[in-house]
Amino acid sequence: MARFIKSYELLDDFNKKKYLATLLRILRNKALYCRLCGERIEKDKELSLDHFIPKSRGGENSVINLVPSHYDCNNAKGAMMPAEWFNRKEKML
Ligand SMILES: [Zn+2]
Repeated sequence: MARFIKSYELLDDFNKKKYLATLLRILRNKALYCRLCGERIEKDKELSLDHFIPKSRGGENSVINLVPSHYDCNNAKGAMMPAEWFNRKEKML
């Protein structure tokens, strides 16, 4: 895995985009659960990849930082760190 991630970081932007598109396509064929709310992602159009550590706060555009999530959850989390997001979710329940 480490070698794979290192290889990913060496790709140019065009190939990173191509890689992410492929990753999304692969994920669409699996039963997926949103890492932000825990619910199942039922439809292709709901699937997005969240930067678990936001890019604006130092998170990398790498495979270990990209997690499957609902499009709406991803939007709602925005630039929050994971702890901020989960604290806020807890208060809403
Ligand atoms: Zn969700």
